[in-house]
Parts: sequence; C-alpha cells; structure tokens
Amino acid sequence: MIVRGTAAPRGDAGPQSALQSPAGPAEEVVIALRVMKFGGSSVADTEKIRNVAIRIAAAREGGDDVVVVLSAMGKTTDGLVALADEISALPAPREMDMLLSTGERISCALVAMALHDLGHEAASFTGSQAGILTDGAHTKAKILEIKPERLRAELANGRVALVAGFQGVSAERNVTTLGRGGSDTTAVALAAALDADVCEIYTDVTGVFTADPRIEAGARKLPLVSHEEMLEMAASGSKVLALRSVEVARLHDVPLHVRSSFAQEEGTWITKETPMMERAFVSGIAHKSDEAKISLLGVEDQPGVAATVFTALADALINVDTIIQNVGVDGRADLSFTVPLPDLRKALDVIEAMGDRLPHRETLSDDQIGKVTLVGEGMRSNPGIAATMFRVLAAEGINIQMIDTSTIRITVVIARSEVERAVRALHEAFDLASEAERRGV
Ligand code: ASP
Ligand code: MG
Repeated sequence: MIVRGTAAPRGDAGPQSALQSPAGPAEEVVIALRVMKFGGSSVADTEKIRNVAIRIAAAREGGDDVVVVLSAMGKTTDGLVALADEISALPAPREMDMLLSTGERISCALVAMALHDLGHEAASFTGSQAGILTDGAHTKAKILEIKPERLRAELANGRVALVAGFQGVSAERNVTTLGRGGSDTTAVALAAALDADVCEIYTDVTGVFTADPRIEAGARKLPLVSHEEMLEMAASGSKVLALRSVEVARLHDVPLHVRSSFAQEEGTWITKETPMMERAFVSGIAHKSDEAKISLLGVEDQPGVAATVFTALADALINVDTIIQNVGVDGRADLSFTVPLPDLRKALDVIEAMGDRLPHRETLSDDQIGKVTLVGEGMRSNPGIAATMFRVLAAEGINIQMIDTSTIRITVVIARSEVERAVRALHEAFDLASEAERRGV
C-alpha cells in the first residue's frame, strides 16, 4: 500500500511500489493503481511470460491495484503482416485489424493463465471489452473515449485486469488497431481514464538514455525527463515510447516510468517539468537515419504555394517534417523539406502529379540524409546552445544542410553517414554522461 497524491515520484522507490512516499500519520493511505505495460520483447516466449506474471504478482502482493497492457509476443505482429501480404497484394484494412489484433489477445490470455498458477485472480480482455472506443480509421485508429467501468469492476473484485494493447472498437463495432507501437498508447490512455498513479512501461532497455547506447557507449540513463522533452525525443527518433503515447501522457498529465522487465532497477521517470530540470542545458540527443530531403527550386514566391504543396502531401498521408524556404529573389524561391525515407517515392510522385499547379524550375531529392537533435528544458533559459552545437559540428567538418528548432530542441539535417559521429561529438561536448549522473541525485 502506498500514499497517493503526495510528493512527486522519488528516485528510490522500490520495485514493490511505484510511488513509495513517506507516510506521515496524517496522510490518507489508499490503494494505488498501477498500469503496467509489457512490450513484445518482454513476452517473447513462455519463459518471459512467466517472468512478467511474477512481476505483476509482486505488484499485487505489494498492495497495489494493477491493470496490465500487453503487446503481442516478440515479432508476432510482423509475422501477421507478412501472412496477409502472402495472401493478398491489397489486404482490406478492416480485415488487417481483425488479424493484427489477435497477437495481443494471445499474450493477454497466456499471462492470465500464468498469474492463475501463481495464485492470483486475473482476467484478460480485448480492447473492445475494456471499453476502448476508437474512430473507424482501420490500422491507424485514434482512441476517442474509454469506458473503464468493466475494468473498475474487475479491480473492485480483487482481480488483475489484462488488456490487449494496440486495439479498440469503432462506433460501427468493428475491431480497430492503433498503428504500430500502439500498445504504449493503450497503456497511457487507460492510465488517464482510470486516473492511475503511474503508467509503467516495461521494455528491454532500462530507461531513456542521453543518446543511443549502441552509438555512444558513454550514454547514461536519465533519471527524470519532462513530458515535453520526451515528446521532442520521440518525434526526433527515440524509439523507447510511441510518440502518440507521450502526447496522451502530456495532455492528461500521466506520470510514466520506463523501465526494464528483466531488472529491478529504477528506470526513467517522465513527468511534468520540475524545477531541477532548469539546471541542465541539454538532456539528450536523438537521431534519425531514415529520412529523405526534397527541394523544389524556383517555385513562385507568392501566397498559396506552400499551402498547395503541403496540402497535396498531407492528402497523400505523407508526414512532412523540417521545412525551409529561402528568401525569394526575382519572384522565385526554393522550398526544401524532409519526409520519411519510405515515403520519398510517393512524395515525388505527388509533386510530379501537380504539374502546372506547381510551376517550378527543378525538383531535387536526397535519400542520404539524417537528423541529429538536441533536447533539453534548459534551452529555454540558456542562450548559446545552438551556437555550441554548430561549433562542435564545424570542428568535425560536418556540413549542416537544414536547421529546425523549438523552445527546447535544435535539429540539424546532415549527411546520414555523419550522424553517428555527430552524436558522439555532441555527447562529449555537452558532457551528457556526467550531466545525467548529476541529475540522478
Ligand atoms: N504489436 C503491435 C506492434 O508491433 C503493437 C505494439 O507492440 O505496441 O506494433
Ligand atoms: Mg513498442
């Protein structure tokens, strides 16, 4: 049992209780509600499923109420997609959802069985049974509303409720899925709907790192990052959490705890901004290596041109990212933007199809670019971080092709072949390893 609604999450919370706080006699002690989400690698085989059940059991035995969200086992979803591709060149999205949603049901049922064997009451539910209502956009549905009554009733009866992630039901009563990686979103949305004390994301890494440890061996786990920092990191290439799940967490102020399913150590807490964060200039470095750049040279420098281009791309469901337009000369301007590499062909087709509606001199494309992003709440109050970043890249002889910023982020577009070198040089220059350790206090 833990105290609810007191201090912010503390760094020393034990494995048994998510938000252990010193219980003063005057404080009201209530049962905490934890949402625990386990990713595909955490339930990849029956051995791992038993391990997950043991962790859930420990949470229950510590006195917390528990709702569990599960991903499909290992690479199950990839396997199901491949199966559909084998059957049909153009599988109907409705049937895709029927197919893909089965993966999560399997892990749910198996974890329920493992929990029963440990002497715990548990029941598994599809997204639909759990009251997750979505729009009708098959394979990329959005959660519209959650009716958590059924889950609440299970909890009230002392059961662990296991919910199949990544899925819901539309108003037309069709099964829908939320897009790849959508189980994170299920977990955070449930935590918001149930007003849970924490949403724990169990995965195969121990938390959010200052940079990708596969590139920078000195990368350190960050004890605490803000929702907004995490949002920028997820949008800039960090794969720890699905972007949409972080959006939901920020919107509803859900504290997240990203941690390993294979170790007991504390992971990374993701919460609203805290005063401590103001001290750090840069929190982490994210990167993307699967981007491409398109440049439209000599477009007309007049109202409506950008609107025309980006409306056509949006209609084709292409996610345009960094956009740059230079100062017009002689009534002409150049417009450059990045798109995900897999969408490059489609984007070029869209532009070609615009023909006379988009008069311009030439279309250039580059499929060899990458992005490196610095993220940190400290940027709000510390000028000069961009200058330092550019100096470091200059010293490495790395050419910056585009620059894009927000109040807490600086992104540069560079050659893909230089991304890893840039990450290492910046990690060193901003001393992120010691910064992370300092923040651990
Ligand atoms: N199983 C789904 C996927 O692989 C959803 C998830 O794991 O979050 O994308
Ligand atoms: Mg995932």
